[in-house]
Amino acid sequence: MGSGANYEKGLHDLGNGCFAWLQPDGSWGWSNAGLIVDGEESLLVDTLFDLRLTREMLAAMRDASPAAAGIDVLVNTHANGDHCFGNELVQGAAIVASKACAEEMGELPPAALAAMLENADALGEAGAFFREVFGVFEFEGITLTPPTETFEGRTTRRVGDKAVHLIEVGPAHTRGDVLVHVPSEGVVYTGDILFIEGHPIIWEGPIGNWVRACDEILAMGAASIVPGHGPVTDDAGVRALREYLVTLEAEARKRYDAGLPVREAARDISLADYASWGDAERIAVNVSTLYREFGDPAPPPSPVELFAWMAELRRDRR
Ligand SMILES: [Zn+2]
Repeated sequence: MGSGANYEKGLHDLGNGCFAWLQPDGSWGWSNAGLIVDGEESLLVDTLFDLRLTREMLAAMRDASPAAAGIDVLVNTHANGDHCFGNELVQGAAIVASKACAEEMGELPPAALAAMLENADALGEAGAFFREVFGVFEFEGITLTPPTETFEGRTTRRVGDKAVHLIEVGPAHTRGDVLVHVPSEGVVYTGDILFIEGHPIIWEGPIGNWVRACDEILAMGAASIVPGHGPVTDDAGVRALREYLVTLEAEARKRYDAGLPVREAARDISLADYASWGDAERIAVNVSTLYREFGDPAPPPSPVELFAWMAELRRDRR
C-alpha cells in the first residue's frame, strides 16, 4: 500500500493476519493502532485516546477475526495517551511496554487532560487551542491501566507461529518508543516514530535516536509500514520523515549558533517544503527540544507555555 492510498477510518487488512486501524486525519489525538493474529492468538498494538473510540475499534477487530475476541498481548508503543488511554478495555491481556514507557505513562494521566479541558477558559489562548484539538475526546472516567510487563532493548513475542519483534528505539518522540515488527509478513507498526502527512512532534529527543530509528525501519525492507498517525506508508514515507528531522536539526543548529532566541528560530525556519503536512505549529516544540539538546541553559517551557506558543503559530498561519 503506497503513501496516501485508501486512507479511510477503520480496519485495514494488510494480509496474513496483520491489520491496521486508521483514524484520519491523523492530527492531534487521531492515532492508529494494529492487530496481529495467528491461529487462536492475537496481539494488539496500542489502544486509542478514549474508551468510546477504543470500544469501537475492538468491536471491529472481533468482527474481522475470532482471535481478537480475547486479546492475549497488548503492546503500547509509547506513553502518550492517544496510544494507551483505552488499555482498561483489553481485559486479561498482558500489557507490554518498554521500561521507560511504563515509567512515563503516569505523568500525564487522563484526569490531568480532563482538568485541562475543564479549566481551558483560564488558560487563554493555550486553553482555546487545547479545547480545539482535544475537546472532542472524553477523558472523564478513564482508569489509567499501566503495563504489566516491561523490557529494555529488544524482545520477541510469539503470536501463533509468527515472531513479533519489539524494538526499543527511544528516547526519541517520547522516552520509551518501541517499534513492533513482524518480519515474516513484512509489516512494521512504528508508533509515533512515524507521522505521515503531518509534522512529527519531538517531545523528548535526542533527534539522533529518531534518525537511527528511521534507518532501522528502512533496514527492515517492510512492505507495509503503519505509522502512529497518518496513512499506511512505505520506505518513501520513512525517508521523507528522516529528511525532515535531519533538515530541521541543521536549520535549528545554525540559528542556535548565531544566538537567535528559540522563539525567533521557530518562526524563522522555512517549512515551505512541508506545506502539505498538517500541524505545522509543532515546530515550536521541535525547535525548543533541539535547543535544549544543543545546550540552551534556559529552563524548558511548561506544557501550557508550549500550547500557548503553538496556538500563536497556528493562528498566524491562518
Ligand atoms: Zn500519537
